[in-house]
Amino acid sequence: MDISVVVPLYDEVESLPELTSWISRVMDENRYSYEIILVDDGSKDGSWDMIVKLKQSNPFIKGFKFRRNYGKSAALNIGFEAAQGNVVITMDADLQDSPDEIPVLYRRITEDKYDLVSGWKAKRYDPITKTVPTKLFNAATRSMSGIHNLHDFNCGLKAYRNTVVKNIEVYGEMHRYIPVIAKWAGFTKIGEQVVEHRARKYGKTKFGWTRFINGFLDLLSIFFVGKFGKRPMHFFGAMGTLSFFAGIVITIWMLSEKLYLIAHKLPYRDVTDNPLFYIALVAILLGSQLFLTGFVAELVARSAPERNRYQIEENI
Ligand code: UDP
Ligand code: MG
Repeated sequence: MDISVVVPLYDEVESLPELTSWISRVMDENRYSYEIILVDDGSKDGSWDMIVKLKQSNPFIKGFKFRRNYGKSAALNIGFEAAQGNVVITMDADLQDSPDEIPVLYRRITEDKYDLVSGWKAKRYDPITKTVPTKLFNAATRSMSGIHNLHDFNCGLKAYRNTVVKNIEVYGEMHRYIPVIAKWAGFTKIGEQVVEHRARKYGKTKFGWTRFINGFLDLLSIFFVGKFGKRPMHFFGAMGTLSFFAGIVITIWMLSEKLYLIAHKLPYRDVTDNPLFYIALVAILLGSQLFLTGFVAELVARSAPERNRYQIEENI
């Protein structure tokens, strides 16, 4: 099979007929063999019934229905597991991504030999309150991930070589940073393709302003996992050890000062009257806590990665 199109969707019933017929038209025109994997992420608007209905006249549709809303990452993940095409293309359901981009994305993988090609909506029609934070996020992600050639990590329209999707795990809210996850897995030929940005035709966005807070937390985890993922001890352990030994050095200093004063029969004060005593105490306690945190993190990093525990209620 040439192409699997993976579409995560949550309450997108109005878009589905147009989306699936448009994808099929592009596939037929280009004589691709294909499947359209629609992952219903717990919709409440009748999207699933629509998928069942559309499949009756379009046998290339496959559908998965989640028991509840687990998020876009989980939906993508199940699509990745199921995808049989040599090239896997992800696309939002809301018609903001154009199926007309499929052939060019396909060729970037098959002819230009990219592992992953990410769409870039170079011309956007969003308000400045969305475009400015998005630009900042992308700049931060570029510098933290070392993937310097991408402008829009979060674009829903992306193409992958099949082996890539079989070897990455999209968890939590990390769908925003799939190119980074792919790079961690060793897929380094990551490219970009300018794609059209269309206005949402039906329904409304599923991600409100909280996307910026979530995105920021994800960015932090990108940074920590990327830098210290395999060796959390190197971060926490080093800080803990530093703090611990700073406390010990202060303690030794205080004790030797006291011993010196006693030996020379000079007046001395009790250690608990010395503010340094409390600093040393905090440094030693904090140091051992940080060290333990690093140790626990090391155990977690070595255990099996936590999987999304999503349940598929139905699939067709
Ligand atoms: N989506 C999903 N699960 C969710 C939220 C969104 O599968 O919990 C889907 C949604 O239906 C759409 C895609 O993810 O197909 C992108 O969402 P949306 O268009 O709301 O995001 P925006 O374009 O505003 O960034
Ligand atoms: Mg959208």
